[in-house]
Amino acid sequence: MKTFDIIKKRINRVSKLMNLSDREVDVILSYKRIKHAKLNIGEKSYEAMRILHNDAIGPGKGGIRYHPDVCEDEVKSLAFWMSLKNSLAGLPYGGAKGGIKVNPKKLNKKELEKLSRAFIREFHNVLGQDIDIPAPDVYTNSEIMGWMLDEYEKIKGKHEPGMITGKPLSLQGCKLRATATASGAFIVLKEFLTKIGKNPSELCVSIQGFGNAGKNIATMLYKDGFKIIAVADSKGGVIDKDGLDITEVIKTKDEKGSVTEYGDKKITNKELLEMETDLLILAALENQITEKNADKIKAKYILEIANGPVTEEADEILYKRNISVIPDILANAGGVVVSYFEWAQNRTGNMFEDDYLEKRLKDIMTSSFQKVYDMHKKKKIDMRTAAYIIAIKRILDAEKARGRL
Ligand code: GLU
Repeated sequence: MKTFDIIKKRINRVSKLMNLSDREVDVILSYKRIKHAKLNIGEKSYEAMRILHNDAIGPGKGGIRYHPDVCEDEVKSLAFWMSLKNSLAGLPYGGAKGGIKVNPKKLNKKELEKLSRAFIREFHNVLGQDIDIPAPDVYTNSEIMGWMLDEYEKIKGKHEPGMITGKPLSLQGCKLRATATASGAFIVLKEFLTKIGKNPSELCVSIQGFGNAGKNIATMLYKDGFKIIAVADSKGGVIDKDGLDITEVIKTKDEKGSVTEYGDKKITNKELLEMETDLLILAALENQITEKNADKIKAKYILEIANGPVTEEADEILYKRNISVIPDILANAGGVVVSYFEWAQNRTGNMFEDDYLEKRLKDIMTSSFQKVYDMHKKKKIDMRTAAYIIAIKRILDAEKARGRL
């Protein structure tokens, strides 16, 4: 099943709960702009795209992904989730996403830079601080954002740092941004655990995905006293029922490229998802828990840091089995919230203290969580459905206020 078909199925269900008209469902599922291009670097040609889902609330906002599996279905789905995520967090943005179908691990730095600059040469007309604002996503980082800003400003002949976020600090990036996705997820998780009366020391944690977000949340949880018993990256994972030494696992990953080089007790990604644990953190890619493995999940709680890691069919099974899912559009919004701080600073020229921004991040994440949790309890619906209802309502309100609906 295509990822966007899973989204349609979910929206179909949620729209009934919200009593949406066919026209409203149509607006939520339609796209404002889908732009494709081929990026030619030497002999090779790479497929690239930027997709704007909805811009009723404000300009498009969302990352650019470099991955061999990038395709229109995936980027459309990611752009859709960005709209909902931005709406739920109360940010002044619509949703967008971009991608290049490439395995960046096979490119050297010069090639990566050429590719990133080529992306901007093809897409600069649909980007801008008031049009659509990219940021990092899977396998893209601040260095790439820096090259992209430079290429954009060269073409436009002016400075416009707010056209992209997640930039290097020397190009008006925001210090909090590198760890923001994990920080946001950590705040939401702690709020959730307080609600259900659990302490970190009582919980065993397994983490799928050890990129920026996975690594950083592992560090935060480890420092806070959680026992992390398994972690995995794209090559596989490691397990220790007594608790992994996360500092050492990260050191190994940084030095040798994979967590599988650490220790001798290995585990596959599939085994990690299905293992005995309390909290399962999904920080890799979409569609990891589906109708095929949802009945095998033993975790009691799932925290989604990746976008779309649990399908609609799996949601139903997990809900019936009383497994709580803290949904992506709530749990992983920290990245884009701090992107918003960066963009706001760039536009106004104001510079805020880190302490102040940390507090604002905490306030925004906590208040989003509270809204979702309250509705989940009050209406006896899962947290994802509650988050979708709140997010969709705000988008449709903006559509109505514009007279488009
Ligand atoms: N790529 C991140 C996400 O999926 C961040 C987007 C942004 O900062 O614009 O939320």
